[in-house]
Amino acid sequence: MAGCYICGSERSRSLCEIPTGAIVRCLDCQTVYRAAVVAGAEYNRLYQNQATMETPFYLANKMAANPNIEPMPTFARGLKRLAQLRPPGRLLDVGCSYGAFMVMAQKAGWNVAGVELSNFTAQFAREERRLDVYSGTVEQAAYPDGHFDAVTLWDVIEHLDNPVATLKEIHRIMAPGAILLVFTINQESLLTSVGHMLYRLSLSRWEHLMTLFYYIHHNFFFSPRTISTLLTRVGFEIADLQFGAANVARWRIVPISPLMIAGSNVIDLLATLINRRYRMFIYARKTPA
Ligand SMILES: [Zn+2]
Repeated sequence: MAGCYICGSERSRSLCEIPTGAIVRCLDCQTVYRAAVVAGAEYNRLYQNQATMETPFYLANKMAANPNIEPMPTFARGLKRLAQLRPPGRLLDVGCSYGAFMVMAQKAGWNVAGVELSNFTAQFAREERRLDVYSGTVEQAAYPDGHFDAVTLWDVIEHLDNPVATLKEIHRIMAPGAILLVFTINQESLLTSVGHMLYRLSLSRWEHLMTLFYYIHHNFFFSPRTISTLLTRVGFEIADLQFGAANVARWRIVPISPLMIAGSNVIDLLATLINRRYRMFIYARKTPA
């Protein structure tokens, strides 16, 4: 590997080496990432595999029937804050999955478009939900300069193979003053710290625990600091940053015992007191021209 995928630095430290790959922290920009980022043909193949996209986590987006079941409450919260920062106009949902968020945004008065790498998922959004969804990457979609008033990345940035390039492209297609919403995991959460502590206490034997934190499809693990640094570098200013619940029970892609779910919920709730919850909403504004 040629260096940090975010800043290019050659200096990094290993956080853990698990069967699903080594996780490192850049000693310059502090970003945590998979030492061998899933990219290229392998990256594309991953999202064309129906089994990957039909785990309960993703299927919730396909159903989207109950407004009380995740991810709908999370979407609703983001949408509400978004509308406070920028009145509804053209919105692009990058990695829109089956289109549940697009439907919600449309109802709230946004003119919505989506891009989705997973072909059959995009097809569902187009055919079953009658949404304007492009199959492929946002780079391939090649939207005009300054086109969108808002862009959303729900649980997407951690999957990207080149976040710097993708964010630059998103910045290009946004209007001056437009808002980017990034929803992702907080690497500096109390839950993650406790996880690492338990892993060290197990003398690096509890690998299963680390595979929960460093899920195989995730390449990047940002903190409030590292995501803010990256977004600023690409040309955004941070408008707001809020925390959200871990919802560990919702992971369900990998088996988690009920005891571990209960423990995680307690830790995540305690994290509220010190602003170190597991999920974060970052609202960034494209600097007005
Ligand atoms: Zn770096």
